[in-house]
Amino acid sequence: MKIVADLHVHSKFSRATSRDMDAGTIALWAGHKGIDLVGTGDFTHPEYLKELKKILRPSADGLFTPRGAKGGVHFMLTTEVSNIYSYKGRTRRIHNVLLAPSFEAVDRINRALSRFGRLDYDGRPMFGFNAKDLVKLVMDASPLCMVIPAHAWTPWYSVFGSNSGFDSIEECFEEQAVHIHAIETGLSSDPPMNWRLDALDRITLVSNSDAHSPEKLGREANVFECDMRYEDIVSAIKTKDRGRFLSTIEFFPEEGKYHFDGHRNCKVRLSPQQTGQHDGTCPVCGGPLTIGVLNRVERLATRREGAVPENVIPFKHLIPLKEIMADVLSTGAGTVKVDRLYTEAVIERGVPELDILVDMPEKELRRLLPEGIVQGVMKVRDGMVDIEPGYDGEYGRISIRRDARQSPQQTLF
Ligand SMILES: [Zn+2]
Ligand SMILES: [Zn+2]
Repeated sequence: MKIVADLHVHSKFSRATSRDMDAGTIALWAGHKGIDLVGTGDFTHPEYLKELKKILRPSADGLFTPRGAKGGVHFMLTTEVSNIYSYKGRTRRIHNVLLAPSFEAVDRINRALSRFGRLDYDGRPMFGFNAKDLVKLVMDASPLCMVIPAHAWTPWYSVFGSNSGFDSIEECFEEQAVHIHAIETGLSSDPPMNWRLDALDRITLVSNSDAHSPEKLGREANVFECDMRYEDIVSAIKTKDRGRFLSTIEFFPEEGKYHFDGHRNCKVRLSPQQTGQHDGTCPVCGGPLTIGVLNRVERLATRREGAVPENVIPFKHLIPLKEIMADVLSTGAGTVKVDRLYTEAVIERGVPELDILVDMPEKELRRLLPEGIVQGVMKVRDGMVDIEPGYDGEYGRISIRRDARQSPQQTLF
C-alpha cells in the first residue's frame, strides 16, 4: 500500500509548541493533510508517554492507532534528542530523531537516558554527552531502533551545521556511524543539494515536517509503497530501496529559514559568493554572519551543482496550500479569507491537502477550488515560482509567477 509518512513532530510538551499537539489532534490533522503514518514525537517525555500508552493500541507490527479514532492514521513511536557537548575544543549541538518499534524499547531508552539528565522539562530533552554514545544507547535498547540526524544542515543544531556541527557523518558518530543509514534534509535543503556530497551516496535522504503545530504537519514527508509495519518502513529507509521508498515531498529549499547566509537584525541576505566577498562579516554592522545551508553544502560538496548520482529517490517540491491561496489572493496565509477557502476544500469536503498539492488531476481540482487557486497549484507543480531565499532564521518569500502556464500539450501542438 502507498504510505505517506511524517516521522518528526513535537507534542505540546516541547518548548514553543502549540498546546493542541496531543495524539488526538495530531491524528485529526494528519488526516486533513493526507498523512497515513505520523510520528508521536516526544516519547521521552514521561507525561506525554503516559498519555500515549493510554490512547494508542497496537495496530500493525510495531505501529499504533489511537483508540476510538476514525480514519486510518497510524502512529510510530518517535522522539528527538539534543546532544550538546564539547569536542576538539568546539561546542557541538546535534539533534537526532529516534524511531522505536515498541513501548518496551521506549522504556529502555528512557531508563538509560534518565541516568544522564531530566526527561520531564522538555519534550526534546537535552544531554551533555556525545552523539555517538546516543546511538549506542539507542541500539542497545533495541537493534530495530533507528537514529536519524535531524534537519542535518541547520546552522545551530545539526550534524553538518556551520556553527556547531561536523564535516562528515563519520567524524560525528565515529564507530557508531555504521548505524546511521539516513539523514533528514530539513526545510532549507533538498535532495539535489545533498547529492553533491559523494559521502552521502550510502545515506537515505528523508523528509519530515518537524511540526510544532497541527497545521504544519506534512509540510515535508516521505512516500512509501510497502506494508504498514514498522520493520517494512525502517527497512525501506535503511536499504534506500526505490521499489518501496517512492519519493519525498519537499519545501523549495529557498523557502527554508537558513538557505542563504545573512544577518537578520540588519536585514542582510547574502549568497555564499557574496559572503565570500564580505569575508563572512555583516556589511552593515560588521558582526558575524549566520552561514546558511547552501554555503555549507558548497563547502563540503565533491560534485558540481546539478550532478545526479545513481540510485537516488525521486522528490517533489511543494508549497503549503494556504500559502498558495494567500499568494493568489494577494493576502496573508493567516487571514479569514484563506482560512475559509481552506476549510471548505480540505476539512469540510474531506479532501487531503497533499492530494490537492501533489496528484489530483486539474479537472478534479476545478470542482474543489476557484480557478485562480487551481492555476496556482498547477504552477507550483511546474516549479513556476520565484523565491527570495530565507536567511538567519527568516523564512524565504515565495511568489507564484503571474505569466500564463504552458502545458506540455500546448507546446507540442
Ligand atoms: Zn531539532
Ligand atoms: Zn549586521
